[in-house]
Amino acid sequence: MRLYNTSTKSLEEFKPKNPEEVKIYTCGPTVYSAPHIGNFSAYIYWDLLLRTLIANGFAPKRVLNLTDVGHLTSDGDTGEDKLEKGAKREGKTVWEIADYYIDLFKSGFKKLNLLEPYKWARATDYIEQSEDLVKKLIENGFAYETSDGVYFDTSKFSAYSDFAHLDLNHQKAGARVAFSSEKRNVSDFAVWKFIKEGENHAMRWDFLGRPGYPGWHLECSSIIHAELGEPIDIHTGGIDHIPVHHTNEIAQTFGAFGSELSKTWLHCNFITIDSEKISKSLGNIITLEDIEKKGYSTHDFKLWLYQGHYRKERNFTYEDLESARIRRLKWINFVLKNRQNNAIDTPRTPNFKSTLLENLNNDLNSAEAFAYIDQVAETINIEDWRDVSELFGLDLRLDDSMAPSKEDYALVEARSKAREEKNWPEADRIRDELASKNLTVLDTADGPLLQFLR
Ligand code: AMP
Ligand code: ZN
Repeated sequence: MRLYNTSTKSLEEFKPKNPEEVKIYTCGPTVYSAPHIGNFSAYIYWDLLLRTLIANGFAPKRVLNLTDVGHLTSDGDTGEDKLEKGAKREGKTVWEIADYYIDLFKSGFKKLNLLEPYKWARATDYIEQSEDLVKKLIENGFAYETSDGVYFDTSKFSAYSDFAHLDLNHQKAGARVAFSSEKRNVSDFAVWKFIKEGENHAMRWDFLGRPGYPGWHLECSSIIHAELGEPIDIHTGGIDHIPVHHTNEIAQTFGAFGSELSKTWLHCNFITIDSEKISKSLGNIITLEDIEKKGYSTHDFKLWLYQGHYRKERNFTYEDLESARIRRLKWINFVLKNRQNNAIDTPRTPNFKSTLLENLNNDLNSAEAFAYIDQVAETINIEDWRDVSELFGLDLRLDDSMAPSKEDYALVEARSKAREEKNWPEADRIRDELASKNLTVLDTADGPLLQFLR
């Protein structure tokens, strides 16, 4: 299985330390507002990673964190805590905001049929571990206290700029305005923030003799240490995590435990709309609920995403989602026909699953795997379709108690004939008859496709 490792910038054969327990960490959401399809795309891509690992006989142990404190509106340790911002916006407590958006995120996860992590790790459940980590950093000479927090001294970690190929000299010149006089280096970052007198920060813990809260990057290092132990096998995130968040995670883990954080790093690219990154600040957000309201399944979105590649930027349009929907519907129709024909007698297609896996083992090349499925879709049997469904976590209505009968397919043919003959009353009558059986027909370039109304 070959994966593109961001830290070495090369496609590498993936070799876990222990195939029975492949340690994986996924940077999770900040739970202060509704996740959009861009946010979800990462978890959909990494679901394919997990399923591919499993298909290769590995047993992944994946931890996914939920950031409910400390993520400021700016990456430079300034601005408001995002949870505080959400609480003000909605007139709720920060705890209510966190609970609400955690539930919303998990419900999206379920709808998308993504594999549950071994552990959902909420940052506020790891405060003690985070305090211990800060203490270790201070003891080891990697962190220092200022009037507004504890900062990691990046000059003490000589490899600090390596991961993201940062130009620290240039950073110094460019960022002078925001440079706090108490910070030793412009790239130093907060591992703990103190709460000033009168400052309204509901989540607070007494540490180092004052109320405060952890810096955003800290939770990932402390959760990994507590739940998996470093170095882990694979660390995943978005490309925006490379220069700051992941760079800082690596530094903290080295400073506290003297260890490498992860052997392999995978980063996914952005989803855009009209070539602009989907983001709250641009106001071009589309949620899973939005696409559902338009009559699409979240699995249509999933299929759309897997038509591309995790390292490439993808521009989302409803036209492309429609094509993905039709492709999934076509596959479902093959499944339904297979079931209706009781196709258990049809033999499996030789090397079907191994060919799919070969593509996925090539840095998760789902697009190639899909092209192959289309090539053989007419001949593969129900068990082959089950492999497709399992490898991609796609709902293909394999276990649906409903399946159209031979009579239903005869009705579809009769409707096509009526339409050819321009016998519209008869075509309408058949449409209504199918509707009474919860079925409808979609006319596509490849012929009519049956779908369930509900
Ligand atoms: P946020 O809650 O806005 O900080 O986003 C959380 C994570 O979602 C980011 O760190 C990104 O990795 C990912 N993300 C945000 N916007 C997009 C996007 N348009 N496409 C893909 N991923 C995104
Ligand atoms: Zn992280």
